[in-house]
Amino acid sequence: MSEIIFIIDSEEELPISVWSYLVKRMSSFKCAKCDTNKRVISHHITSVYDGGKCILSNGVALCSNGKCHPKSRHHSTEYYQNKKKQHIVESILKLDPTRIESDLIELPEKELWNIFLSFSEEKIVRMLAGNLGIKI
Ligand SMILES: [Zn+2]
Ligand SMILES: [Zn+2]
Repeated sequence: MSEIIFIIDSEEELPISVWSYLVKRMSSFKCAKCDTNKRVISHHITSVYDGGKCILSNGVALCSNGKCHPKSRHHSTEYYQNKKKQHIVESILKLDPTRIESDLIELPEKELWNIFLSFSEEKIVRMLAGNLGIKI
């Protein structure tokens, strides 16, 4: 997995679900400030509302347990959540086309992530590479 991160340009704009996964993966699913692995989220250093993009250089994994993630509502706005959910659903459908989109849309984001992460890492790496047009 670390190899794929090396071949992705840190300025390459990524689908938000891919960006979110890779930002956390690069941080070994731990908070960059306090090192916990509980409630870790991918945070845009420059918010999407201020023109920040889903590029690896604009992401940091932070926990939402205490003071590490800045207190802000940007992760909970309906627009952001719906967009993020849609991207995760699309990613799941690429990994398992037998699933039905309308069933997935009903699930909370946490369950969607659990499904996404239940796929083998090799499958996820292949999908990420496919998204970026990289042949592996
Ligand atoms: Zn933390
Ligand atoms: Zn954030």
